[in-house]
Amino acid sequence: MPDALSLSNVHVYHGEICAVRGLELTCAEGAVTALLGRNGAGKTTTLSAIAGLLGTRQGRIDLFGAPLEGRGPEAICRAGIGLVPQGRRIFPSLTVLEHLQIAYRAPRHAATRVFDIAGVEALFPRLRERRRQLAGSMSGGEQQMLAIARALATNPRVLLLDEPAEGLAPQIVAEVADAISALKAAGLSILLVEHNLPLALRLADTCVVLSSGEVAWRGAPDTLANDPDLMAHHLGVH
Ligand code: ATP
Repeated sequence: MPDALSLSNVHVYHGEICAVRGLELTCAEGAVTALLGRNGAGKTTTLSAIAGLLGTRQGRIDLFGAPLEGRGPEAICRAGIGLVPQGRRIFPSLTVLEHLQIAYRAPRHAATRVFDIAGVEALFPRLRERRRQLAGSMSGGEQQMLAIARALATNPRVLLLDEPAEGLAPQIVAEVADAISALKAAGLSILLVEHNLPLALRLADTCVVLSSGEVAWRGAPDTLANDPDLMAHHLGVH
């Protein structure tokens, strides 16, 4: 399968602090790539750099072979990157439908599946029922569904998910997991940052572990799950 997303020798700074250092990362088309690591390892920084929210100081970021680095967040979104940010960042005073209408972009590539508003609502029936509801009055799980739906409505080729299970009850985590599986089945390529390891390992086709802004390990989820030393050292799981 071709690479949907590829990062080569990417360096990202916060001021003078180097948070991502020479990162090499590829996401295969139609696969879920899990980006793992302890707090502060550089996961959110990586997603922010791909989405154009942070500039890179060095390196290349390619989406299906076309360079993204140096472009602004809006151009990167139009090129086909959808970001579901950490903490959801929904607008409390807008309705569900308004979020989707504002976000909607017709696909500009040969999409396997087009996500118009009806298509997004079909994937999240709970949002269809609540389309007139103010987003601020919804539960955390519903807001997370909305954050994913909003990113989907931009018809991305690659979806970046930053801790989609954070702060959610187990039953809601299972619903979010089902939604992510459905997106993968629809052909989307996904880069997933997630602290809930059982969830990440279940969804991922491949795992990349970051430590202090550098790749410490990469491989199959089963290999990672069966290596207690690796899990303890890089992920703090005992
Ligand atoms: P977490 O799992 O806690 O979300 P993370 O792996 O996503 O962590 P980042 O948020 O990317 O890690 O942080 C990487 C490094 O960059 C950390 O050392 C962090 O302190 C630093 N950093 C992140 N955001 C900023 C900022 N806005 N200003 C300065 N330093 C920052």
